[in-house]
Amino acid sequence: MRSLTVLSGGMGGARFLQGLLHGIAAGTLPGVAPDAHVTVVANNADDWWVHGLKVCPDLDTVMYTLGDGIDLERGWGRRAETWSAKEELAAYGVEPTWFGLGDRDIATHLVRTQMLEAGYPLSQVTAALCRRWLTPTYGETLSLLPMTDDRVETHVAVADADAASGKRVVHFQEYWVRLRAEVPAEQVVFVGLDRSTPAPGVIDAIAGADLVVLPPSNPVVSVGTILGVPGIRDAVRNTPGKVVGLSPIVGDSHVRGMARQMLTAIGVEVSAAGVALNYGARSAGGVLDGWLVDERDAEQVARIEAAGIRAAAVPLMMTDHDATAAMAASAVDLVRSTR
Ligand code: GDP
Ligand code: CA
Repeated sequence: MRSLTVLSGGMGGARFLQGLLHGIAAGTLPGVAPDAHVTVVANNADDWWVHGLKVCPDLDTVMYTLGDGIDLERGWGRRAETWSAKEELAAYGVEPTWFGLGDRDIATHLVRTQMLEAGYPLSQVTAALCRRWLTPTYGETLSLLPMTDDRVETHVAVADADAASGKRVVHFQEYWVRLRAEVPAEQVVFVGLDRSTPAPGVIDAIAGADLVVLPPSNPVVSVGTILGVPGIRDAVRNTPGKVVGLSPIVGDSHVRGMARQMLTAIGVEVSAAGVALNYGARSAGGVLDGWLVDERDAEQVARIEAAGIRAAAVPLMMTDHDATAAMAASAVDLVRSTR
């Protein structure tokens, strides 16, 4: 295999990519060339405008993680960050005070916003930012693309006793950062998604891939939004390459993040099998040839296979690069021999 395409969210996707790239470089992925090209198609429906800046959390998490600029403890934002701008904004009483933009991070958003305002599409802006973060290490072997150049935003409806409708719709960032996903999500709304078009290069990267990987990213607000860009799901269905996914649910828990809340909101069973069946088998109009579950969920393998998806149970905790590279190797191996 010479070309792999990964449909990624933020933290889960970025960690997986670290392990995948580690495995490719070490030559431990069966049948994958050491100079294979990896294209990351990242979710950009978490994006929002704040303090006049365009912030793309998943793109930045992937870029900072793979470029070794991420704060390892938080898992997002820049390492050795300072917060003077945030404190100054708070001193002016400017909302939202619950969303922290670090000083170093702000430079990224300033560059991005300036370029967008000069007329460059997000995909070209992302490529420009990646020249700092990815090119020095990966050269031409790694590309990071937003799923779309269009503005798409995930919003979440939550119960609000004070509202006439009994509901309030908040931006995804407010649900996650301010409400900490602690209140039930009643509905998830993807504003602009149905009118969006894939960013340049996205369809070609899927159609031309030997392997498309759905990493253990949030199946609703990360991979779900990518597949929801008109044209992308069909490209995954029709690629001549193989399509394999890894479960973000381990032992009926989402490890970290809020996949449980999002799956519940769309009425999908919170389990490795529930997520697999929701993606569906390619042979039955879905997107998967293969699906890995954690060893704790081994009893779900038969149910997934009965739906036409090849499945296996292996350790799926991304504890370090070696463990994650082993997950990637198992994923490649699972679908290598499927028709
Ligand atoms: P986000 O955009 O930062 O929320 O990141 P992603 O959407 O890429 O990934 C978040 C999801 O990764 C979470 O909802 C978890 O279900 C999953 N996840 C995080 N850590 C692990 C892990 O170690 N193993 C597995 N299997 N899934 C994980
Ligand atoms: Ca995200």
